[in-house]
Amino acid sequence: MPEYYDRIFGICGFQDTEIERERSRIERALDKIGVGPEDIPRVEQRLREQHEVELEGVRKILRAWILELLDLVLAKEEGKTVIYYGYPSIQGPGMAISSESGENVYVGCPDVVLCHTVGLIFDKLAPFLEAAETNGLPPGHGLCSLQQIRNGGLALGVVPVPDLVIASSYYCDMGSKADELLHEIYGHPAVYIDGSMDSRWGEFPRYDLERIRFLGGQLDKLFANVEKILGIEVTRRSMKKAMATSRVLYSALGQLTSLMTADPMPISGVVSGIAMNLAAASTGRSMSEGPDALSTLCKEVEGRVKSGYGILEKGAPRVLNFAHSFSDPGITHMIEKAGLALAASFVTVPPGKRDKSLKLYSLGEELAESAMRGGAYHSTYGFAKRFAEAARSLSMDGVIWGYQYNCRPMALGSHLFKQFIEEETGIPTLSLEMDYYESRTYGAEALRTKVETFAEMLRARKAKA
Ligand code: SF4
Repeated sequence: MPEYYDRIFGICGFQDTEIERERSRIERALDKIGVGPEDIPRVEQRLREQHEVELEGVRKILRAWILELLDLVLAKEEGKTVIYYGYPSIQGPGMAISSESGENVYVGCPDVVLCHTVGLIFDKLAPFLEAAETNGLPPGHGLCSLQQIRNGGLALGVVPVPDLVIASSYYCDMGSKADELLHEIYGHPAVYIDGSMDSRWGEFPRYDLERIRFLGGQLDKLFANVEKILGIEVTRRSMKKAMATSRVLYSALGQLTSLMTADPMPISGVVSGIAMNLAAASTGRSMSEGPDALSTLCKEVEGRVKSGYGILEKGAPRVLNFAHSFSDPGITHMIEKAGLALAASFVTVPPGKRDKSLKLYSLGEELAESAMRGGAYHSTYGFAKRFAEAARSLSMDGVIWGYQYNCRPMALGSHLFKQFIEEETGIPTLSLEMDYYESRTYGAEALRTKVETFAEMLRARKAKA
C-alpha cells in the first residue's frame, strides 16, 4: 500500500518495487531522522525547485545518497560493524576497508551523509545542531558545524555509536578534537592520523620527503589498527579495487567539470555538489551506485551542451568556487541567480602526476604522496597555489573563495587566498565568509549583497574586455 513518503522516494529515483522492498528500512530511517507526513509537501517542493530532478542522473545520485543514509542509520540494527572516518579525508583507505570487509561492515563519513540527505534533501538539520549545542559543542566554541552534526547525530541516537573512528588530523585537527570528545562520551576506539602541514612559503609542489615518511607511517598504523581491532586486513588488492572505483568516479567528475565550463552553463552547481561528495563520504553506495549514476548524468549533460541548453544566459561570467554548500541548495542557486556560472569547483580539478623516480615503501606512503600533490594537505601555500593554477587553466572570470568561518585550516587562508590568487593570476576573487554545512546564520540572504556586487563587477569587467 502506498505511503506518504512514496512520492518523494519516486522523485528520488526509487522504483515502486524497490520502495516496497525497502519499506521497513525507509520507515525506520525516516522515524529516526524525524521526517513525517507534514514534511512531505515542503520536501517535494525543495526537490522539484532546487534539484533538477528531471535529469535521470540526478535522480540516481539522490537515490544513492538516500540508500547510503538508510545503510548508515540502520547499520547497527542490521548487525554491521560501524567505522567512521573524518572529512576531509585522503581518498582510498575508507573504500579499501569497505571493499575488503564486504556487506557486514559500514564505512562512511556520517556527518557528510547527514548533510547531503537530512540537510540537502529533507531540510531537517536544525535538531541535530541544537542537540550538539547542548552536548559539548556550543555555538561559538570554534569547532565547525560539520562536527556539530556528527555530535548531534550521535546524541539523538540517529547514527549508531561506531566500533572504530578514523580521525584525520593531518589537515584538520578540529575533527580529531571533536572525535576525542565523542570518544570520551561513547567510549569507542579511535585511531588518530597525524601529519605535518609545516613547509616554507613557496615550497609547493616540492616537499620534505620526511613528511611522506611520517604521514605514510601514520596511514600504515591505521591499517595495522583496523586489523588489530576489527580483524580486517587491508591488502594491496583491496586498495587497488578502491582506487579503481575512485578513479572512475573522479574521472566522471572531471568530465562533468569540463561539461560545466560550456557556455551557457548546462546544469546548476547543486548537481555537481551532490555528485562530488558521494565519492568522498560514502564507500558503499558510491562504489555500487556511483559509477552508473555519474555516467548517466554526464551523458545527459553532454546532450544539454550539444543542444545549447543552459541554466544561465550565454556569456555569464564563469566562476571557480571552492565547493558547494553541503546542506542548502539555496546558496548555490542564489549565486547562480546573481548571474554567475559556478562552472568548476576546486575539488574537481585533478592534481599533477607522480614523480616516478620517487621510492615509496608502503601503501601508506603511496597514499601520502598522492595527498601531498593535491595541495590542500601540503600547506596553505600549496592550497592557494593549486587554487590559482586551477582558475588560470580553466580560464575563469572570477573565483569565489568561500571559507568556512569556524574552520581553522580554511579561515587561515581567508583573505590571504584572495590576495594570492589576484596577484598570481589577475583573476578577481571574492573572499566569502560562509558555512558549508548549515545555513541558520550564513543563509543565501546573508551572503547575497556581497555576491551580487561581485557579479556586477565581473560583468562590467567582461564587457570592457
Ligand atoms: S570544515 Fe574545517 S574544521 Fe570542519 S572538518 Fe572541515 S577542515 Fe575540519
